[in-house]
Amino acid sequence: MRKKVIAGNWKMHKTRQEAKSFIESVRDIDTNEQTEAIICAPFVYLQSLVEQTEGTNIKVAAQTMHFEKEGAFTGEVSPVMLSDIGVTHVVIGHSERREYFNETDETVNKKALAAFKHGLIPIVCVGESLEQREANETLTHIANQVKVALSNLSDEQIKKTIIAYEPIWAIGTGKTASSEDANEVCTHIREVIRQLTSEKIASQVTIQYGGSVKPANIEELLKMSDIDGALVGGASLEADSFKQLVEVGNNAS
Ligand code: 13P
Repeated sequence: MRKKVIAGNWKMHKTRQEAKSFIESVRDIDTNEQTEAIICAPFVYLQSLVEQTEGTNIKVAAQTMHFEKEGAFTGEVSPVMLSDIGVTHVVIGHSERREYFNETDETVNKKALAAFKHGLIPIVCVGESLEQREANETLTHIANQVKVALSNLSDEQIKKTIIAYEPIWAIGTGKTASSEDANEVCTHIREVIRQLTSEKIASQVTIQYGGSVKPANIEELLKMSDIDGALVGGASLEADSFKQLVEVGNNAS
């Protein structure tokens, strides 16, 4: 049985006090052993969030990182620094990073390799644009993103990787992919992983859906055969809403 992983991606939101109050409200979040709750926060809050969530079921993730362990890369944060402060996961290749910050499939792959090298679990984002969907290119595009992202990772590393399928047209737009359409792509991702590894590995990989997920639609998504959780933007910013999302995850397991 695969775990349901509910991750809240705060993106560039919240003051220090807001971040602190959020964790105070969700500290007692109850995850059963089949569910995992993760908060993906801005760099500046990561260390205090790790401290604040100690002894809870909530894990803390970064929203990006550099792939080198150190060096002359002004403004960047390395995987070594993230694991050093107790961060466990890192989002890689979010479409906003790809669109605004020159993230490419190749840098996503370098980052995935670097994450494992330094003890972090990557949450690798893939997704198609509206043009690609309308041109019927979704499955080919996603397969290519997945293959390049996972190049040179061992089967064991692939097994631990979380893939987040986030159609770009559904992010922050209020337009969720139908659960059938989302599942079709997630099933395809699992098939690509099966071809790269084996049935056994592919059946254990966590594949999330992201794009306008909220308490009102998560249940339907989590019922689908290949959707194992959600990467949530807007609806993860309010503590109550995040708690509800995790609760649905608990009951879906
Ligand atoms: P929204 O849930 O706000 O659509 O954002 C999705 C997302 O990009 C999560 O990483």
